[in-house]
Amino acid sequence: MPNPTYDLVIIGAGPGGYVAAIRAAQLGLNVACVDKNKQLGGTCLRVGCIPSKALLESSNLYEQTSKHLGVHGIEVKGVSLDYPAMLKRKENVVATLSGGIAALFKKNKITHYLGMGSINPDKTVTVTDDAGKTKHVVANNILIATGSRAASIPGVDLSLDKVDTSTEALSYDKPPKHLAVIGAGYIGLEIGSVWRRLGSKVTVLEYLDRVLPGMDAELARHAHKVFEKQGLHFELKSRVTGVKPGKQGVTIERDGADPVKADRVLVAVGRAPNTEGLGVEDVGIERDDRGYITVDANYQTSVESIYAIGDVIPTPMLAHVAEEEGIACVEKIVTGYGHVDYSVIPAVVFTHPEIASVGRSESDLKDEAHEYKKGVFNFRGNGRAHAIDQADGFVKVLADKKTDRVLGVHIIGPDAGSLIAECTSAMQYHATPEDIYRTCHAHPTLSEAVKEAALAVDGRVIHG
Ligand code: NAD
Repeated sequence: MPNPTYDLVIIGAGPGGYVAAIRAAQLGLNVACVDKNKQLGGTCLRVGCIPSKALLESSNLYEQTSKHLGVHGIEVKGVSLDYPAMLKRKENVVATLSGGIAALFKKNKITHYLGMGSINPDKTVTVTDDAGKTKHVVANNILIATGSRAASIPGVDLSLDKVDTSTEALSYDKPPKHLAVIGAGYIGLEIGSVWRRLGSKVTVLEYLDRVLPGMDAELARHAHKVFEKQGLHFELKSRVTGVKPGKQGVTIERDGADPVKADRVLVAVGRAPNTEGLGVEDVGIERDDRGYITVDANYQTSVESIYAIGDVIPTPMLAHVAEEEGIACVEKIVTGYGHVDYSVIPAVVFTHPEIASVGRSESDLKDEAHEYKKGVFNFRGNGRAHAIDQADGFVKVLADKKTDRVLGVHIIGPDAGSLIAECTSAMQYHATPEDIYRTCHAHPTLSEAVKEAALAVDGRVIHG
């Protein structure tokens, strides 16, 4: 029997790959998607964004119920944790959503090949299953969407027991007594928050003198204070040089400071692209010096009709960026048009409160000597924030001094991750602060804080 032929074979069924597969099928392509996991959805769905958000929600409810309901006049006694049930719920959420992708594949007539995909010099794809059995498929176009894995640092061996990545740290069989976290980025703060709420002592060791590098510094300073108040312990300017596992736990060595002992350590120092075993060298696909696959404006690699998107290329390592790139890539293949605006990418940290940003930060603008105007509004001036007892935090709007165009919005506070969507749309339409504040915002909602921050840019804030 001849090998099956597809218009497009996608390697990787994460948010980049599976979304690209659906869009390509909508556009009339005959599509196959190769993934070594039975559960579709990639790192994001199986062991990343979704399970972490499930545990963030459960652990937040536990903390609110055990500590903060008194303020609402609700007395709750004897709150206890059924941790296995919490884990089970998380797994059910993952299974439901993964099953949803399988159904979408079926609906869109996308074939899932179970196994590792590798590209051959003749541009066919070999799929090797767990038992070592192989299948070959012929691809007119190939899209690499294999994502990333946790990176490490010299002296830290991720294969050792009690030296964990986010994958293990989302499935501990019980809360560790003392969890050390290396890195105060997205993963360190989100997963560190989960375990602190569930009773662990959490020490975050961060190389820099601040948390959340890359995010607006004023936002990060506020976040640092809030998390410390919540009980996360930070050791900034702490460069980890090694981790030694012992009988009881781990010892984390640092440059110029005492070692830290903990029961487990979560290594959250960034991620590295997954390009091993794909055949990229054999086919001649070029990579940069950090191992990312280089692509042109059409997401085409150095080899014709082989494309790459998501965490394997040097763009922000975010699920929603991978999705946008996957759609743009297949639209370009089929229609010749497709576009991702990298200047308007929202970023959200799902802690409590949430932290969200889009566009330029103040330090970006200062570095670029870009003249800007700034409006800040504190949630303590927002009625809804008081009603829900979450009046800490602020919205900051930055706008161009000459053109008035919004350049960036930065939020720490209740539901910041949803509020940033309005700001992202505004920026996408090249809005000014006036466009935002002349738009009617429902009362009483948290979104009025965005409107007030826009008003503040023009010195006409009402509730501040
Ligand atoms: P990150 O890049 O956000 O943070 C890594 C941190 O580790 C940095 O603060 C860095 O200074 C620190 N670090 C590096 N070397 C160190 C050392 N030797 N000692 C101490 N600290 C050190 O990385 P992450 O938190 O691992 O996240 C990885 C990726 O996953 C990110 O690109 C992020 O975009 C993505 N992610 C996103 C979300 C979200 O959107 N909510 C959630 C989780 C992960």
